[in-house]
Amino acid sequence: MKKIKLLLAVLILLGAAPAGLFSQQMSPVPVDAAVRYGKLDNGLTYYIRHNEQPKQRAEFFIAQNVGAILENDDQNGLAHFLEHMAFNGTKNFPDKRIIEYFETVGVKFGTNINAYTSLDETVYNLSDVPTSREGIIDSALLVLHDWSGFITLADKEIDAERGVIREEWRTGAGPERRMWKASNYLKYPGSQYAKRDVIGDTAVINNFSYKTLRDYYHKWYRPDLQAVVVVGDIDVNDIENRIKKMFSSIPKAKNPAKRESYSVPDNAEPIIGYITDPESKGYSTRIVIKYPFVSTPEKQTKQLIYDEVMQNLVSEMIKNRCDRLPADSMVKAAIPATGAISYAMRTFTITALPIGNRMVDAAKVVVTEIERVAKHGFSKEELTIAIPAVKKQIESNYRRAKDQKNEDYVNRIVEHFTRNEPLISPEERYKLQTECLKSITTEQVNEFTPKMIRADNRLLIFACPQKDSINLPTKEECLKFMKEIKDSDLPKYEPIKNKTLQFEKNLTPIAAKSEVISKDTTYTWQLANGAKVIFKKSGEQGDNIKLYAIKKGGYSATDEKDLKLTRFMERFTSQFIIGGLKKQDMTKWCAANNVSLKPSIDYRFDEFSGTFTKKSAENLFKLLNLYMSEYSIDEKDIAYSKTQTLKELAMPTGSHEIYKDTCQKLEYSYYPFSGKITPSEVELASITNISKLYDAHFCTPSQFTYILSGPAEPSEIKALCEKYIATLSDKSAPTSQFKDREPVVRKGEVSLFYKGKNLKSSKASFYRSYSGKVEYTTENYVKARFLVYILRERYMKSIREEKGGTYHVGVGIGTIQYPQPLFRISVDFDTDPKLVQELAEIVQKEIEKVTTEGVSDKEVKEVMLYLKKGVEEKKSIKRDWATDLKNSIKGNVDLTIGEENYFDKITSKELKKFAQQLFSQKNRMTFIFAPEN
Ligand SMILES: [Zn+2]
Repeated sequence: MKKIKLLLAVLILLGAAPAGLFSQQMSPVPVDAAVRYGKLDNGLTYYIRHNEQPKQRAEFFIAQNVGAILENDDQNGLAHFLEHMAFNGTKNFPDKRIIEYFETVGVKFGTNINAYTSLDETVYNLSDVPTSREGIIDSALLVLHDWSGFITLADKEIDAERGVIREEWRTGAGPERRMWKASNYLKYPGSQYAKRDVIGDTAVINNFSYKTLRDYYHKWYRPDLQAVVVVGDIDVNDIENRIKKMFSSIPKAKNPAKRESYSVPDNAEPIIGYITDPESKGYSTRIVIKYPFVSTPEKQTKQLIYDEVMQNLVSEMIKNRCDRLPADSMVKAAIPATGAISYAMRTFTITALPIGNRMVDAAKVVVTEIERVAKHGFSKEELTIAIPAVKKQIESNYRRAKDQKNEDYVNRIVEHFTRNEPLISPEERYKLQTECLKSITTEQVNEFTPKMIRADNRLLIFACPQKDSINLPTKEECLKFMKEIKDSDLPKYEPIKNKTLQFEKNLTPIAAKSEVISKDTTYTWQLANGAKVIFKKSGEQGDNIKLYAIKKGGYSATDEKDLKLTRFMERFTSQFIIGGLKKQDMTKWCAANNVSLKPSIDYRFDEFSGTFTKKSAENLFKLLNLYMSEYSIDEKDIAYSKTQTLKELAMPTGSHEIYKDTCQKLEYSYYPFSGKITPSEVELASITNISKLYDAHFCTPSQFTYILSGPAEPSEIKALCEKYIATLSDKSAPTSQFKDREPVVRKGEVSLFYKGKNLKSSKASFYRSYSGKVEYTTENYVKARFLVYILRERYMKSIREEKGGTYHVGVGIGTIQYPQPLFRISVDFDTDPKLVQELAEIVQKEIEKVTTEGVSDKEVKEVMLYLKKGVEEKKSIKRDWATDLKNSIKGNVDLTIGEENYFDKITSKELKKFAQQLFSQKNRMTFIFAPEN
């Protein structure tokens, strides 16, 4: 008897527990059992995991749980400097041997061999390393061994690297970095985080003593703060033995310094901040709220999942409110986002983009929405709308993470080592999140919300160009209106119901005129109105069905005088009212119905592109039908678009914009959109002429070819076409006049040295291209790729390593198919204005060397090995039938198709010939932008 009573009592207790609690929140999350991890006696941690995505390849990482935050003032920037030095000589790999050795096995510096330094961690990687030979595996482990504590730090190498770092500093020294730094002072007031920015101080970089760098190195690079990570197609036991053998002899640190964790201070009163810069252009008003991550012990439990789901729900509900702000709210948009500012602290931000420079109005909008949430929380109705949206996010995250590449595992492992994130698999995470989402109640959400939308820890930040800072409110004014909003009787939020597409036509299907089924089961139907439909059942895009509708035309069928207006019209289509839905409602309806559809215009074709699912097929066809026959335009929307465009036109242009415009004018001998749209052209836009242009391009359903592929039955697609396409008629007759409108690249020697005015930055940007007519084939494309890799390698040596003249030399390839085939190889870098001419000569010399002396067999082989590694991965990318067919109908040749067939065949002799063919055409363009002083 007693026993039963007891049981009943427990049941009642459980029933009385807080509603719908996600089962055992404090129970641990399951960890990935396939990860082998352990610690050596000297304190070094290791992680090993077998994975075959891709096969015969592995990642070798060493994570140092230290970063710029630990620097002393005289070491500002040296955590990052040290990271560079790891590639300039170690005990077993003197000088540049790490790079030289790995390039011989197809592992490239920059892409496969790299490292990053952040405030809290420094992580080195050898990626995509072939595991076919034991020798390569041992070499990779030996590099990690050397990076753990055997970096040479030779005096002359340190001095040589100062230039590279100085140029890396210069490259990043733009308005974005200055504004980012300014925002850090606001986010981390008085904290160590505000003092460090990784790249550091050039005065330190230029002058630090060798000892200062070595002090940082010996203090912080030590086994108890390091983890070696190997993930890939390897034998776990074997690697574990090798790691034990190789790393155990590293001595344990004696009297190690404490690795401090720095906190971000809380603030009771809102921090009001202003970020302005003479070179910035944007206007924004942001409210930022800081709140802590779940604690380390909680991270190992389901509390972590609960917290993630809650955060997503709150963000989604606030996003829904922001998307539906009243039309007169004086913001162009309000965008919520979550982020992190340290391992322990994260942020919730709403960024409002004001109309014009009305930043105070924008600030009031975001403050009001935050206060409304704080005061009333969310309603059940809002939660009901948010849950499916969050479910969709969780599903799409899972789909992305499911196909676990080696690098995905490594990232999770590094997070486990540096910030105690659990080693949970994407499957488990997905399972737990879905389970958690099912049981969540409005009460739980409203209990969680104040933890995120906190009453304290707030910042209000205004960003605008310096000249406009006079319009900013004072701190006192801000605090005053913030308090007023808080104390006011803010009404509860009234959720706006989603509207649905109205389709009032009563259509009777008209049978197709013909049906042809090809051998590969491609269906082609000729519809009654003349339209052609091509469909193939396929499954390469999951549930998605793709649709393209294309028609020859585009700008080639547009009168010269209508070109700019046509472009205005194309952009304006997003504001058409279709089936009773305006832009915002349309976006919501499309998302809720898994439908997307968009008209666009290119140089030779008019096009609709869309996706849908089997379930949403009818909705897509209704939408397409309306897009081709019935739409309306609100006079007010046109007026608003016009005013906005005119306002933008009236804005004073800075040096960078004038430079860009000038470059464009020089670059092309014909460019249909040269110059901005003029105010008088904007004034021309009216419902009448926008409709006229739209009708000619898009309300011509019989002239389109419809291409569809995906998991649907041919009979279903046919029936939909017969109902929604065959019944449409054209509003405009076909065009027969087509004119080439593609931009034509100017020939010969073109150059521009532009001096920018009123700039804070001290960098010169160099761009040069060599172009020429070359047959538009995959083989030539592959040759160009080989040349690009070889040139990049050479420039990194001559310009970066030898001259210390830049941080990075970009060498790129461009191809143009129409109106004439053209290949273009470009070189770009940022540098000290004083060096630009000297470096330009090096650029030219190398081009001449390639044409006269050619390239070496060794260079060709290294590129070949590197490119061949990518072939396996390329195979796993499923090509999309509809897109391929569309491109072939449009006559667009995809040069990457079948490129792997040429990798083995390219010889140094052929490359020399190719270089001669391209560079001897003497089409050279040089654009240099440098500050005036
Ligand atoms: Zn760097």
